[in-house]
Amino acid sequence: MRRKENQQPRETLHNAFDLDLEALIAELGRLDEKPFRARQVWRGMYRQLAADFREIHNLPRSLPALLSAHFTLQPLRPIVTEASADRLTRKVLFALPDGATIEAVLMFYEKRCTLCVSTQAGCAMGCPFCATGLGGFVRDLTPGEIVAQVLYFARWLRRSQWDGIQPTPMPRPTRVTNIVFMGMGEPFANYDAVWAAIRRLTDKAGFNLGARRMTVSTVGLVPGILRMAVEPLQVNLAISLHAPNDSLRDRLVPINRRYPLAELIAAVRQYIATTNRRVTFEYAMMRTINDSLLLAEELAVLLRGMLAHVNLIPLNPVAGSPYQPSSMKQVRAFTAVLRRHGVSTTVRLRRGIEIGAGCGQLKRQHALQFNVQQKEV
Ligand code: SAH
Ligand code: SF4
Repeated sequence: MRRKENQQPRETLHNAFDLDLEALIAELGRLDEKPFRARQVWRGMYRQLAADFREIHNLPRSLPALLSAHFTLQPLRPIVTEASADRLTRKVLFALPDGATIEAVLMFYEKRCTLCVSTQAGCAMGCPFCATGLGGFVRDLTPGEIVAQVLYFARWLRRSQWDGIQPTPMPRPTRVTNIVFMGMGEPFANYDAVWAAIRRLTDKAGFNLGARRMTVSTVGLVPGILRMAVEPLQVNLAISLHAPNDSLRDRLVPINRRYPLAELIAAVRQYIATTNRRVTFEYAMMRTINDSLLLAEELAVLLRGMLAHVNLIPLNPVAGSPYQPSSMKQVRAFTAVLRRHGVSTTVRLRRGIEIGAGCGQLKRQHALQFNVQQKEV
């Protein structure tokens, strides 16, 4: 349904999720409203999950219209939504006000509902097996653009509940219970915005999601790892490793030339020593590239004795990239080597391969289709 717009077009409205509580108090102060009103609006945004200021309970009659003249609670425009056949994975491609696009993916598990969010439009790190990396960098997201992805899905889940629609074939959590910063972009290349988003989402008077339910995944930017080690919030850290030696990692993860393995592992050790928290290493299994049992031995030696866990993920093949997933037999053999060395290891299947739920894939698919259409014209 089209809402009657007595306000500026969305493009010129500010994203309300870019305001922290202090800034919201200041904005409302300009409208001669007291700080308690700002807290009321804050609860409306993050607890009530209002999509429009008019929905927020108990505001003075003129306030929603005044707020709507400057701010929007819907800064992201969903342009493509795809659900997997089992309806346990749902992916949305969003357009930002300047036309850049990003993706977020919701994954239902038995007791969790995990949302994977983007931290940048595109990525500058250039990993050749990654759809986002192949697409290049567009721009950093603002904290509000990161937060708004979460609010979009939180509202969608709430609305499904209200409408009596089961989003999944079997009962599953009805709220976003976990957030992983593993969508498009490198979180530590946009550190301040990511951390501002985390603070906003963990705020007890607002969305109130536990920091321990969040995971930041990095390609291995050492300064970010060291910075995160002293953050007060207990967010989980995942490192995208993909190779146990520099010559292979230089190829698969080009930023390794700047932060080689010895430096990366030293930073992770320092992180563990400071936080006493277990770190996850992600290893995308690519057939004949990084899946030999010799490399498994090398990886085991690299990680042995660390408070760490390895996630082996058969690669999600990306259109236009020559990298292919390892066979399950090879993944199992690789796992066995790591476990024999006492390295805690699990195999994680990528969700929603058929909807391109790998990093940056939906955007890439649509870009490719668009190119084809353009050629045909
Ligand atoms: N830039 C960050 C976070 C986003 S990528 C990082 O690299 O960690 C999230 C995860 O998806 C990373 O572990 C990345 O290596 C992995 N990934 C990217 N493309 C993939 C693909 N085609 N198949 C499997 N995993 C992939
Ligand atoms: Fe960027 Fe992560 Fe993709 Fe590498 S894997 S290009 S760091 S999004």
